[in-house]
Amino acid sequence: MIDQTDTIAAIATPHGTGGVAVIRISGQNAIVRANEIFSPIRGKSPIAMDGYTCSYGYIQQGQEILDDCILTVFRSPYSYTGEDVVEISCHGGRYLIQKILRYVLCETVRLAQAGEFTKRAFLNGKLSLTQAEAVADLISASSENAVRYARTLRDGATFRKISEFSGKLLEILSSLAVWADYPDEDLPEVSPEVLEQDLKSLMFHMEHLLQSYDYGRILREGLHTVIVGKPNAGKSTLFNALAGCERSIVTDIAGTTRDIVEEQVRLGDVTLRLSDTAGVHETSDQIEQIGVEKSLASIQQADLILAVFDQSKKFSENDKNLLKKLPLARTILIGNKIDQRISWSFSQLQENFSDLPAACVRISAKCGQFSELEQAVAVFASRRASPAEDGMIANERQRDCLQQAIAAVQEALNALQAGYAYDAVTVSLDAASDALLQLTGERVTDKVVETVFARFCVGK
Ligand code: GDP
Repeated sequence: MIDQTDTIAAIATPHGTGGVAVIRISGQNAIVRANEIFSPIRGKSPIAMDGYTCSYGYIQQGQEILDDCILTVFRSPYSYTGEDVVEISCHGGRYLIQKILRYVLCETVRLAQAGEFTKRAFLNGKLSLTQAEAVADLISASSENAVRYARTLRDGATFRKISEFSGKLLEILSSLAVWADYPDEDLPEVSPEVLEQDLKSLMFHMEHLLQSYDYGRILREGLHTVIVGKPNAGKSTLFNALAGCERSIVTDIAGTTRDIVEEQVRLGDVTLRLSDTAGVHETSDQIEQIGVEKSLASIQQADLILAVFDQSKKFSENDKNLLKKLPLARTILIGNKIDQRISWSFSQLQENFSDLPAACVRISAKCGQFSELEQAVAVFASRRASPAEDGMIANERQRDCLQQAIAAVQEALNALQAGYAYDAVTVSLDAASDALLQLTGERVTDKVVETVFARFCVGK
């Protein structure tokens, strides 16, 4: 565990040159140190300042004035970390800010480690572990949706949801304990039927939350998307147009995309992790065959398949075969080359559909006409979303804890259904409760805390 008695400092704003940069100092010596290095021009000296107030003045090292700045004081416990905090907003040049930081650091103030400010906030009870993780997600969020989710989670949505489960478990555990501990009292018996019902309902809600993990992954990484289609349908052209660069080889010679190229691209507000695969068609070329097999395998793992068809050419047997291989519910069927004369439409092909496709759209990859595709992708992504207020399982650690809790409740149910004594049920429910406390960080090992905060940048 970190030594919380020392005072830490770091640059809180991103590296590089900007208009303003912020140095944050947190700990019991923060205000004293600020007082030593800062001379107010307007306002009070740090030691005399109330929390949530600021002063304008100089950072002065001996005779040298390093910079003029605004200094803000936050007094414990009303700060981000829960400790005394000082923030120095100075001019943003990299050299200058480094020089001021070096001056701030002294016997009693050391450089903060990655994530240490947020770690202190967690250790001081300002944030749950799930909230702290959401802070990291907020920093790395790459879309509006991701920001919205991370913000709701930082405000404690997941913590509240897990606390609901913990509360329910505690209720069940205490009714079992009371009944076991005071057998002679005239207490109402805990009926196995009611207990079973309660546990099943708890399982249902926990499993529902577990499903949100999938959406969390999509927000973090983007929808794993593959582009498939016959050679020359326009897959590489579409890939390049979406990625905005010439990564795939575009030629008129069939079968020139030999391997899978991957790129993270934005389409509207949705992030796609986009793979362009070798064309799916029968081939005798051995190298090409490897590419085709890879692309069929990637269809199985993809969240979304963009299947490109050349609408300017006759719909062929090959097209029909491809259609049969696609998991249509996860597939957007794309009619490409609509800038040319169209020879068929998807509405004529419905007898070939084994399932309802996610959408059918028309584009011209070459002319950059994708508005129908953009809309269809947005609808597809939103169908997988769960309401942010219900909380979300945002990473592997959280998923692991929730899965342990679910497994333990299942064990309790098995024990109950097998007619074991309530003691066996209690043991399993204790384990479930423990897993949930680990999820929120209320009962967690130092190692887990270290791992969580290692994801952060210095200064947060
Ligand atoms: P791939 O084999 O499926 O990757 O196909 P390519 O992207 O290499 O495209 C094959 C040919 O079709 C190239 O000559 C492209 O310029 C052309 N092409 C692709 N998209 C369009 C389109 O929307 N309209 C027209 N007219 N030609 C296209």
